[in-house]
Amino acid sequence: MVSTLIDQDTRRWRKDILDRIFLSFEVENILSIPIPHYPQEDQLIWVGNKKGIFTVKSAYFVARDIVEKHEGGESSVGDIYAPLWKKLWHLNIPAKVRIFAWRLCMKVIPSMLNMCSRGIQVDPTCPICHGEPESTEHAIIYCEAAKRVWSKWNDSPLYLNERNGEIMDLALYLLEKGTQRDMEIFFGVAWMIWYNRNQIVHEGNGGSEDHIWGTAIQMIKDFKGTRSWDINNPQKIEKAWIPPPVGFFKINVDGAVPSVHGHSGVGVIVRGWERRVVAAKCLPLSGRMTVEETEAIAMEQGIILAKNLGLEKTIFEGDSMQTIQAIEAKEVRSVAGHIVKGILQNLPSFQEARVRHIGREGNKIAHELAQFAKQLDEEQVWTSFIPDWIEDMAKAEGTG
Ligand SMILES: [Zn+2]
Repeated sequence: MVSTLIDQDTRRWRKDILDRIFLSFEVENILSIPIPHYPQEDQLIWVGNKKGIFTVKSAYFVARDIVEKHEGGESSVGDIYAPLWKKLWHLNIPAKVRIFAWRLCMKVIPSMLNMCSRGIQVDPTCPICHGEPESTEHAIIYCEAAKRVWSKWNDSPLYLNERNGEIMDLALYLLEKGTQRDMEIFFGVAWMIWYNRNQIVHEGNGGSEDHIWGTAIQMIKDFKGTRSWDINNPQKIEKAWIPPPVGFFKINVDGAVPSVHGHSGVGVIVRGWERRVVAAKCLPLSGRMTVEETEAIAMEQGIILAKNLGLEKTIFEGDSMQTIQAIEAKEVRSVAGHIVKGILQNLPSFQEARVRHIGREGNKIAHELAQFAKQLDEEQVWTSFIPDWIEDMAKAEGTG
């Protein structure tokens, strides 16, 4: 598919085709992407799959710019959607889902019909039900496969069986009549439906409606932490991230298990006492690991990165109570025992090293990095140049 967009003789992007398919700022972003000399695996253009690296990032910039414009009071006259963009950007859902939500409303997700109507030679028929053209709305809402998922939403304020609603109308309706939680569910589940659809099309497998619904709700819960969801544990205040004492570095780590299929990932972020981001790392793990193993590997990776950076005074924080307790108790006989053992051997090599538990609220960036790692094929480490999207998250964290 991507190859259609590339002039095979000159190995340059076909701007004429890009202009027809994408919005102008997206074209700008795409044109800035270097094309490998030798043709590589396709699909780079798909957002939300494991190769969606640059699109996630570029869409982030695009979406951020839009929000900043609106918040800065520059919104153009007659932009009735400004309140929606603003709301979207502040939803308590992973960044990738926010970006997807925005693309969904803009109808720029690559559904078969969208691609077809923009000049790419594909069969517009829905690849799942083969009943109708795969429009944005069909893929996410009206396909039988999608409807089965939405039927799980018992207290939905939407009437999704009426066949005339566009995504944008549904979103605006939710903005007016629904709660923030309704919006988070709507876009979280939509994201998972789209993710699952791509799994079926590209990988030949997908989950049941129960699985899709359950995974989406779990994803939203995980992201929010337990505060507003767990009725049995109301008002549990989670601690926000705070910088380490002077002279110390804080290393936050997290592990992420595969959403539906695919691999696990870990994320690490290192910050100094002046809040500066020193390094960050995203590591995709081959194969499917238990949560326990993934979390232990995350801590191990934090320690390796800190050692490589030559840090002396360190505080390691993770949100897995199990891992922290295993380290404190020197528990080396569990599933992740061999990893814990390695951690215990390496901790004394620091002048000072503290290992502490932190709630999810204080570990958000490591969490995002771990989620991002799941989409990568290779590890990414940033030490001298920290990407803006990480810097931005760091700036937002712990400042209130
Ligand atoms: Zn269908």
